Order: sequence, then C-alpha cells, then structure tokens
Amino acid sequence: MNYTFHSKTSCNMCGASERRVLGRRLNTPQGLRPKKRLGIATTVVRCSVCGLIYSDPLPIPQDISDHYGKQPEEYWLNHYFERKMDFFDLQLDRIKQLAPDAKTALDIGAGIGFTMQAFMRAGFDAYGIEAGEHFHRYAVEKNGIPENRIFRTMLEDANFPEGTFDCVSFGAVLEHLYDPSQALSKALGWLKPDGVIHVEVPSAKALMSKVFNLYFWLARTDYVVNISPMHRPYHLYEFTPDSFQKNGMRVGYEVARVDIDAGQTPLAPGLSRLLGPVMRATDSGEVLTVYLKKGLD
Ligand SMILES: [Zn+2]
Repeated sequence: MNYTFHSKTSCNMCGASERRVLGRRLNTPQGLRPKKRLGIATTVVRCSVCGLIYSDPLPIPQDISDHYGKQPEEYWLNHYFERKMDFFDLQLDRIKQLAPDAKTALDIGAGIGFTMQAFMRAGFDAYGIEAGEHFHRYAVEKNGIPENRIFRTMLEDANFPEGTFDCVSFGAVLEHLYDPSQALSKALGWLKPDGVIHVEVPSAKALMSKVFNLYFWLARTDYVVNISPMHRPYHLYEFTPDSFQKNGMRVGYEVARVDIDAGQTPLAPGLSRLLGPVMRATDSGEVLTVYLKKGLD
C-alpha cells in the first residue's frame, strides 16, 4: 500500500493550531509489544482548544480502494451482520424529538443499508450514498434497499438541491473522512431549515484508550492507541462535544444534544464490560453521538 503524507498544522474542526503530541501510531495493530513490530508510524496529536485527536502528517492512500474496496465480510467483523432490529431506535427517538415532522432522511456512508432500513421501518423516505462497490451491491441485493434510493458516489461528488432532507445521518463515517468540517458544511446545505443532522463518532475522551495508553507508557514506549490512520478501521479522527460546538460556530450549526455511550472495544470486550459503569459515570465511553440543528442566523 502506498501513501502520501500531508502536513496538518491546524485542527480540522475548530481551526486552532495549538496542539500537543500524544504519541505515535503504527500502520499495523500494535499488539502488546509494539517495539518489536515492523512498520511506519505517524504522529498523533490532540487539539489544545477543542480536544480533537488527529494525525500530523495525515497519511492518504494513493488508491482509496486500498482502504475501502474490500468485501463487506473482509472489512467488518461478523457481529456487524447480526444487528438487532432495534439498533437505531434510540437515535430515531432523538431525531423525532428534535424534528417532529421529519419524513425524509439521507444516510451518508450507507454501508450495507442497515440504517436506511431502520429509517424506512420508521416511515421515512430514506436515501443513502455509499461509495464502496461491494457494500452498495450488498445493500441492494441482500438487504432489499431499492437501487434508486442508494447512490454509488463519494460524499465529495454527491449533489442534492438545497434544503432537501429533514435528517442527514453520519453513522461511523466522519472519522474516516479527510475533511469532516467540509462534510458537515455540505450536509448542512442539504438540510431543511428545521432539520437535524445525526452524527456518531469515536470519542476522544474514551477511558479504554487511556487504559491502553497507560500500558504503553508503563512499557516505556511512546505509542498510543488513538485513531488508526493506516490500518483497519482507518479512523483519522476522534472527537469531543467541544469539537462540534466550535465547528458549529464556523460552519453554521448548533449542538442540540450530546449522548456518550460505553460501546464495546473489540480489543478487550471483557475489560470494556467491566469498566462500563465507570465509563457511564464519567462520560468516558467510546461512542459520541451528537445531534446538530441549523444555526439561527
Ligand atoms: Zn480543535
């Protein structure tokens, strides 16, 4: 896999250039003895103003399909295909609270179509965009998503008329994009004035990352587990509620609601379950969900 490395001297969300180096991240899973591993590493930093975690330099693969051209079964772990029927119910409740008349939804990065199915079950006119050929085909052929509702395109190339949708959803998407601020700005243009944007991203304040980073520190390395720019699941960012508050001031939205959930790290599910109550008590779970409304200007 070939990468080009791009210097990132300011925070994509709030624009600040002040940041602190957290450590290094290898292009492979680091295991418990990263000093013994071969590979290249990039530097992981935390924005001193909003807390966004990102890498500088930012590695970009020469061919994006090196990251996302895989079959869904290769990219996702098995549990992804066994989602409970109610997996999006809480989010739909929140969306309905914030936009009671919402009827049209766009799911960005629709994957194999689970969120679109949830929107459709809830009576929405659901649309989606999905760039990955295999994911797109799986959604249509195996999950019954109508082909005229899911567009095979990158967000960067997608176009809808201004004010088309009551809800735009970014479930596990923004952390993969090179320019999340630009993506939110684009989605905001497609949103109706009373609409709501739903965003689920990895939290920069996750307790589990702190536990693993402490282990690496005790092992006298400067490696950290935050983000994964060059290996699966290819996360480029971790976010805080403040990242969205400050980005909203630049782009034109307000944060209407914040939820933080424990989630479950695949690295150590047992430990993650054990620490669940601590995460809930200290808002240090792994999944940050925010709901955004258009600003009042
Ligand atoms: Zn920032």
